[in-house]
Formats: sequence, structure tokens, C-alpha cells
Amino acid sequence: MPSTATSSLAVSSIADVRAAVAKARGDAARIGFVPTMGALHRGHLSLVERARKESDMVVMSIFVNPLQFGPSEDFSRYPRPLEHDAQVAADAGVDILFTPSVEEMYRQDRLIAVTAGTTSQQWEGAVRPGHFDGVLTVVAKLFNIVQPDVAVFGRKDLQQAALVKAMVRDLDFALRMIVAPTVREEDGLALSSRNTYLSPEQRHDALALVQSLRAASAVFEEGERDIRAIETAGWDVLSAAPQVKVDYFAVVNSESFAHELVAAPGSAVIVAGRVGPTRLIDNIMLGENDQD
Ligand code: AMP
Repeated sequence: MPSTATSSLAVSSIADVRAAVAKARGDAARIGFVPTMGALHRGHLSLVERARKESDMVVMSIFVNPLQFGPSEDFSRYPRPLEHDAQVAADAGVDILFTPSVEEMYRQDRLIAVTAGTTSQQWEGAVRPGHFDGVLTVVAKLFNIVQPDVAVFGRKDLQQAALVKAMVRDLDFALRMIVAPTVREEDGLALSSRNTYLSPEQRHDALALVQSLRAASAVFEEGERDIRAIETAGWDVLSAAPQVKVDYFAVVNSESFAHELVAAPGSAVIVAGRVGPTRLIDNIMLGENDQD
């Protein structure tokens, strides 16, 4: 990894990141913000690139948020290559890197959290109870700490992006949300920090996820609008890959996440499943030429 002359300012306290952002804002800079859990890959970097286009100064956070992990999930083994990430972020043009500890983010005597509402209990929320409450609580805190003008999220986590958008609207955060396209490997696999868990064989099996989405998209492109027919095309691919334990595969409204009755351009096809112990999610937007 090439190093650059200027590196990001890495700070781990809320007071320090507030001071650094306030200083930048004093120069009338527009602040762009990219929240992450680290183990950075090209997907994260595409969000930084987008934030750089939309703002003068980019803040990235790296925080593995315990609130969004269930008791049997991978919180403790989630990859945390912090030094490497700091270099990658600096090379990508991140100006301020915020890397708080759990203790810095969550007071022991804290009382208040964000509740994501009923639509959060479908799909990802059904498989991961409480997950989106944890996501929205940390994102609300990060928004209040950084106070960005623009926040960039990935479409890869579509339900998360829809719920953050709803929170920005319903709780009046003064920022603009951008949802950027999913970055994929050449063979279609969506980049994810959790891909590092996969053996070569599991990585191959995991391709069934994107292939199921593309099969559904292909029948939509041929003119099919019947949900059952579109979903069947995807399920056929998944049935041929029994190594993938599917949690859900569905055509939904990309904002409400209600199961669609009739597919339309902009409907989302969402899929989630486990390959070995690793849980992966992906989605595609119908009628958008492989979503991007
Ligand atoms: P994470 O570190 O997994 O919590 O992700 C941080 C941000 O990066 C979220 O907004 C994700 O949606 C986004 N992201 C993750 N993977 C990708 C990808 N393959 N392409 C684009 N954005 C991504």
C-alpha cells in the first residue's frame, strides 16, 4: 500500500473529533461522513470517493458496534485490522478518522436508544432481532458527534440504508443521505468484510447469492412482472446450491421493504444466507442494469 505525504488525522475521543470537525467547518468546509466497521475494502473506498465529490472534508468512523450484534453473532471475531485500515483510509483521502472505543461511545449508565419501528422487524430484522435498533442508535450518535452535511451509505445494506433514511427524515437530522452502488468482485460477489471468513470453496458457493439475484433480474428484463415467477427464478439457483442456507429471498419495495405484489422498475430483490458459519447479504434493483 503506498503511503501518502499527508495521513488522516486519527482520533478516538468524541471531544477530539468534534474539535477537528469544528475547525474544518470554521473554514466553511462541507463535511462528508462515511460510517464503517472497518476491515476496509473497495466498497468502503467507493463511499469515500463519493463523499469527496460531495464535500470538502471527509470524516470516516471505524467502530464495531456491539449493539447491532446478537449474542451468537461474530462481534468478538469481527476483523479489526486498525493500523492497516488507517493507512488505507489516509491513502483514499479520508481527512479525519474517528476510531472510538466501546467505552467512549456507550456510557455505562446510558438510558436512551433509538427504536427502528415495525418495518425493521422484517427480513434482516426478523433474522437479527434488535439489529436495526443497534444500527440506528449508533448512527444517530455518530451523526450528532460529527454533524455532517452529507452522509454516504452503501446500497449493499439496503434495508439499513432505507431505515437510516427514514430516521434522518423522522428525527430531522440536518444532512443529506447518499446511497451509493454496491461494489463487486469481478465474478459478481459483493465485497464484504465478512468475505475474509470464507474458504476458497465457500467463496465459490457464495456466488449462488448474486447468481440468484441476477436470475430474478433476467426474467424481469424479459418482461415478467409476476412476483412468484421472478422469485422462482432466484430460488431455482439457490436450490442448486444447498451449501447456502438461505434466510430469505424476496422481491420487495426498496423503501418500505413490503413484499411486492407486482414487480416494477426499482423493486429490490433481496437475499441473505449462511455459507458455513458466515452470513452474507446482497440485493439488486430491478430494471437498473445490474443495479448500478
Ligand atoms: P460495514 O463496515 O460493513 O458496516 O459497512 C460500512 C458501509 O459500507 C455501509 O454503508 C455499507 O453499506 C457499505 N458497504 C459495505 N459493502 C459495500 C460494497 N460492497 N459496496 C458498497 N458499499 C458497501
